[in-house]
Amino acid sequence: MVAQKDCIFCRIANGEIPVRKIYEDEDAIAFLDIHPANLGHTLIITKMHYEDIISCDEITARRIMGVVKRVCEKVRKELKTDSMHILENIGEFSGRHVAHLHFHVIPRYPGDDVKFEYPGKKMAENDIDRMQSLMKLD
Ligand code: AMP
Ligand code: ZN
Repeated sequence: MVAQKDCIFCRIANGEIPVRKIYEDEDAIAFLDIHPANLGHTLIITKMHYEDIISCDEITARRIMGVVKRVCEKVRKELKTDSMHILENIGEFSGRHVAHLHFHVIPRYPGDDVKFEYPGKKMAENDIDRMQSLMKLD
């Protein structure tokens, strides 16, 4: 998809906004998040404008995940932690701020005061049965 005029990540991909870049190839750029949850918090974006992983083609999805994996490997090697999050916020209720495909890689450390929590809810057995059949991949 062509660049969106008012999309900040399209502008970063076009080199219009300077970032702390750590990687670039034909399809993707990785750079440090401007408001990091921890040091090393990295964003991996596509150069093309897709709203999210659902909107892009499978080849692009595989390529971007390859870069995500390499960033995670780098965190483990250079930042000396085995703990991290891979995160993509999708849709308006997810907490997403920028509607341009991006993954966060967030290194984690003991007592770092970063929280990704959800309550484990007790669900009815028939609802779980229904979900299992509804969610089966074709
Ligand atoms: P999300 O809420 O998942 O859409 O995440 C958007 C992320 O982009 C936030 O963590 C921001 O701190 C980050 N961000 C926004 N503008 C910039 C920028 N110019 N350079 C680096 N990171 C940015
Ligand atoms: Zn964009």
